[in-house]
Amino acid sequence: MIFKSKPEFCTVCKKQITHKHKAKKEWNVKSPLCGDCYVDKMKESYDASVHQNCVACGTRHKVTDLWEPRWQWDMTGLLCKSCFDKKEEDFTKKKNFCCICGAKLGFLRYNPKSKWSLDGQLCKNCWDAQKTKNG
Ligand SMILES: [Zn+2]
Ligand SMILES: [Zn+2]
Ligand SMILES: [Zn+2]
Repeated sequence: MIFKSKPEFCTVCKKQITHKHKAKKEWNVKSPLCGDCYVDKMKESYDASVHQNCVACGTRHKVTDLWEPRWQWDMTGLLCKSCFDKKEEDFTKKKNFCCICGAKLGFLRYNPKSKWSLDGQLCKNCWDAQKTKNG
């Protein structure tokens, strides 16, 4: 026989391959793949594109049921509805109350200096107290 190619093996299951399939770049596996592994990987990557974990609680959800965090929250990934609601509540709370004494913040509110490492805004009293304490 003139045509003779060396046998090739699937990089995943190590079976000898009759019909080679090329793995897609995003699968992070080497080519070639056998038919079975190729189909498996196709399914996996399809699944990954329709399902994702909520970044807060880690539960798996359909991407269509997940919410994009608001840009103010400064986070990446997707959130499930309950984590989204919780986050929004936290954020609104943080926004409206002094992060030290919990007093409701009116129109006048003060941002902490970054070296105070406080998360949230302050009322005038707490801001003054922090300033005296930490400079
Ligand atoms: Zn295989
Ligand atoms: Zn969640
Ligand atoms: Zn305060």
